[in-house]
Amino acid sequence: MTIPDVTARGPALPGLPGGAGLPGGAGLPGGAGLPGGTQAGAATPDAGALPQPQSSGFSPESARQDIPILRRTVNGHPLVWLDNGATTQKPRQVIEALGAFYGAANSNIHRGAHTMAREATEMYEAGRAAVAGFLGAGSPDDIVFVRGTTEAINLVAQSWGRANLGPGDDILVAVLEHHSDIVPWQLIAKETRARVVPIPLTPQGAIDQDAYADLLSSRTQLVAVSHASNVLGTVPPVKEMTALAHRYGAKVLVDGAQAVAHFPVDVRDLDADFYAFSGHKLFAPTGIGALYAKPEILEAMRPWQGGGNMIDTVDFARTTFAPVPRLLEAGTGHISGVVGLLAALNWFTSFDRDAVAAYESALMTYAQQALATVPGLEVLGSAPERIAVLTFTLAGHDPAGVADWLDRDGIAIRAGHHCAQPALAHYGLESAARASLALYNTSEEVDQLVASLRRLQAAPKPAG
Ligand code: PMP
Repeated sequence: MTIPDVTARGPALPGLPGGAGLPGGAGLPGGAGLPGGTQAGAATPDAGALPQPQSSGFSPESARQDIPILRRTVNGHPLVWLDNGATTQKPRQVIEALGAFYGAANSNIHRGAHTMAREATEMYEAGRAAVAGFLGAGSPDDIVFVRGTTEAINLVAQSWGRANLGPGDDILVAVLEHHSDIVPWQLIAKETRARVVPIPLTPQGAIDQDAYADLLSSRTQLVAVSHASNVLGTVPPVKEMTALAHRYGAKVLVDGAQAVAHFPVDVRDLDADFYAFSGHKLFAPTGIGALYAKPEILEAMRPWQGGGNMIDTVDFARTTFAPVPRLLEAGTGHISGVVGLLAALNWFTSFDRDAVAAYESALMTYAQQALATVPGLEVLGSAPERIAVLTFTLAGHDPAGVADWLDRDGIAIRAGHHCAQPALAHYGLESAARASLALYNTSEEVDQLVASLRRLQAAPKPAG
């Protein structure tokens, strides 16, 4: 089955050389047959008539029409993808950009002295400029391409951390952080004999701002905080936290993995020293992401990996290096990943971002109310500012069993520790179920989730 053709919307990928056409009739690799099936009607929960999310000038259909995978079925049911916190689905524009790159424009970058190398380099650097614009950075040179958020944070820990941390220094890390914003700090702290100090949470799952203020001191070198939590949905007051950290001379790294697909980000307004995100949570391919750093910090950063691309001249007596950001991008980068990221940014920014955020907020309110009608269901976290992440427990069922039940209805959620064990431990849990929403999710899909959960609660429990 080929990917259904959908109406073009949003600007086409800029800069494809020679007006390169997209490979015709591209099917899924190996002609992978996607299970077909008829569309089942949306089930309605016994929740009474909940007020539908108000129209905010954004219609999820305008995004859905571009996402081919949303037309597939899973276990005989139309797919309901509520695992966006793990990864987002890809618009046709991104899928086609990858095909077009490999079909008509593939080349390595920077080094080659030929037309296609120059064209590929231009596309790669257009991607860097697009990321800079998307994050509100002052220059494309403030952007380092990495594999994703995890690699970005490890880069900062290994490069900046190794040069700037020492015995007795504190790294403050919020308890709600993803493991990728905890473990790299533990590793570098061990080597430099610095300390990782957790910033506690309130019972609502917000970062305890009083405790944070008390923990900051002249020993604090770095504060690591998520712009949005992948398990509690909490959106901490990062701008205020950054201003406070700066009073002590500390740097602030913001993990934007869960934020960038949900609300507009301006790194200079936040005054963040570092900002990291993963493309795959932003409708782009896996294996590509970006690190923003303030130019004066980036300039002072030392290489963390050596190889091609990051050097100027190599000699056994003395090697000289390329300037940042290339200094921090050893080896061949994920060129097609950048092409896909550029297409994803073009696609995503063609929507009214404030309207998208308002829609998601209304959808989350709807989902919270609908889930409250499921007996025995409890949602974790109720911080005042949140993204549409709903992590929950269901009395009488372990989270893996809940995910398995929903999967039989074609509904994809995640169960487990969500790579945020300290955040779950805050609630005395080791595991929970999580539905995470994106702009293309609808209230009908929330209804299907709730109806399936209610059926699970009503189903006879296995004996013994
Ligand atoms: N931080 C947060 C808040 C995340 O949700 C994730 C992914 N779940 C990461 C970091 C790590 O992202 P990646 O695996 O793409 O590097």
